[in-house]
Amino acid sequence: MSRSPAAGLPADPCEQAPQYVRAIAPYQPGKPISELAREMGIPEAQIVKLASNENPLGVAPAARAAIEEALPELGRYPDGNGFTLKSALAARYGLSMDRIVLGNGSNDVLEMAAIAFLAPGRSAVYAQHAFAVYPLATQARGARGIVVPAQRYGHDLAAMRKAIDADTRLVFIANPNNPTGTLLAGAELEAFLREVPPQVVVVLDEAYNEYLPAADRYDSLAWLERHRNLVVTRTFSKAYGLAGLRVGFALCDERIAELLNRVRQPFNVNELALVAATAALGDAAFVRRSHELNLAGMQQLTDGFRRLGLAWIPSSGNFVSVEIPRANGASRAGAAFEKLLRQGVIVRPVGGYGLPDHLRVTVGLPEENERFLAALAAALA
Ligand SMILES: *Cc1c(COP(=O)(O)O)cnc(C)c1O
Repeated sequence: MSRSPAAGLPADPCEQAPQYVRAIAPYQPGKPISELAREMGIPEAQIVKLASNENPLGVAPAARAAIEEALPELGRYPDGNGFTLKSALAARYGLSMDRIVLGNGSNDVLEMAAIAFLAPGRSAVYAQHAFAVYPLATQARGARGIVVPAQRYGHDLAAMRKAIDADTRLVFIANPNNPTGTLLAGAELEAFLREVPPQVVVVLDEAYNEYLPAADRYDSLAWLERHRNLVVTRTFSKAYGLAGLRVGFALCDERIAELLNRVRQPFNVNELALVAATAALGDAAFVRRSHELNLAGMQQLTDGFRRLGLAWIPSSGNFVSVEIPRANGASRAGAAFEKLLRQGVIVRPVGGYGLPDHLRVTVGLPEENERFLAALAAALA
């Protein structure tokens, strides 16, 4: 074997990665508390992180107990089929187990959909300002992303319908959307589903579903019967308080579930995540508390924005994007973000989402929201 590269090939193995992989801009997560503590010498206990839409109540008590009980079993592989969790989900949602696919976070399920249905020469449709994982998952398959301009920061479903091309195989919709918090009414979504060509899979990402007020709720699972191309995704990361464990799921037609399971890693959901999610699913009181805390916290934040004379995008999630006014035509959101960091408050810049004048803040505990508002007032003074 010759040690020199084959004719015409660069010696650098990284240059062998497909161009569409090399072009990916990595996902930018919220800054971890430990990182800010290291960088600025602020004690971790004094840092408020409102950057990743985590549940400020932390882990549900029932989930914590289940985790502790499962610790001695960690020498074994988890149940690769997730039987117990799937049974609980099946009972909760009135669907058979073969219509449920578990993911290492719902992010994993979104990736599985992209792996199963996208490839070079195919396309996915999603909205401007939509969740960052849609372009990432699309690009990693070498597929084309068709980005549909937003309408008042939200999904423009009529335009998305028109954007569906002959090579389109997936549509991603987040409802509510992150980072805008915008919400589509159930009737609009249903009308959209009736118009989408049946060979196009629609992924309806409902990561924040549990936070919707009663008046905004709609029954997307009922649509699964009529629309075999619909995939609804949900997560345990937000209202269930299990972001660190990584567990989410898809509800869909059993034939689509079967395809997703083919590309799923055999043990993608770890044992602690399985037992904690099963317990959390049964902890209705915790979800209700999370929901109520969020409504009150959202009010607290938006009241604070009003007092500061700031505009925000009305949000149906557990976060809200606030607009930082420009100075002499120049965005000040980046500077405000830095000033908040120096005060020990971590929020999320959303310039990467095409929102260079906004900062996204997660609804926290009342005292965290207050810390943030005071720091924001100081940052803008
Ligand atoms: C947070 C979030 C998810 C969930 O991510 P996990 O992988 O389940 O933690 C999915 N979609 C959107 C729009 C989100 O904001």
